Amino acid sequence: MNDRARVGVLALQGDFAAHIKTLSSIPNVTASEVRTPDDLKNVDALILPGGESTTIIKLLQRIDLDSAITQRVSTGMPVFGTCAGMIVLANEVEEAPNQPTLKLLDIGVARNAFGRQIDSFEADLTVSLNNSVETIRGVFIRAPYATRIGPNVEVLGIFNDKIVAVRDKNVLAIAFHPELTGDTSIHSYFVNMITS
Ligand code: GLN
Repeated sequence: MNDRARVGVLALQGDFAAHIKTLSSIPNVTASEVRTPDDLKNVDALILPGGESTTIIKLLQRIDLDSAITQRVSTGMPVFGTCAGMIVLANEVEEAPNQPTLKLLDIGVARNAFGRQIDSFEADLTVSLNNSVETIRGVFIRAPYATRIGPNVEVLGIFNDKIVAVRDKNVLAIAFHPELTGDTSIHSYFVNMITS
């Protein structure tokens, strides 16, 4: 690996710019937008941002970036999905068994799962990062949660009895939007997954 961690952000749709901004305030990180399989070759890790999961997956498939990501992640590249990105990574989507996903994370998810009345909300929650429990601000926007987790999946965060942060080896998924708060703790944790 280079001295600087090269972190790509999938930039086909959704709030990729906020991730680039968050990453650029972490020392020794170079952030770049990933739009093609060639762009992916130049990064050490990838973030899948929030947005609309059905649109993101269609756009990935159109340019064969889905298979390029799958290939890199299955050979160890760290990947981090937030909100729609968590859905894109999941093995299955509850009540939408035909929704294609990358199936890189052994969880089932429910979309827009916190209910219509509270489409978007913010709340403090605790997450465990590197064996320390931290309180962070969660911005939830039509957020999913995990309805099922596989035996190797580690739960990093729960909010209102719902699983909202998980990790399985090099795959990290968060139901809310850590890129919108100015807090870099989750992004820094992800960057550290490149070397660990
Ligand atoms: N509800 C969106 C979806 O299902 C996710 C929302 C978000 O990423 N903020 O794809």
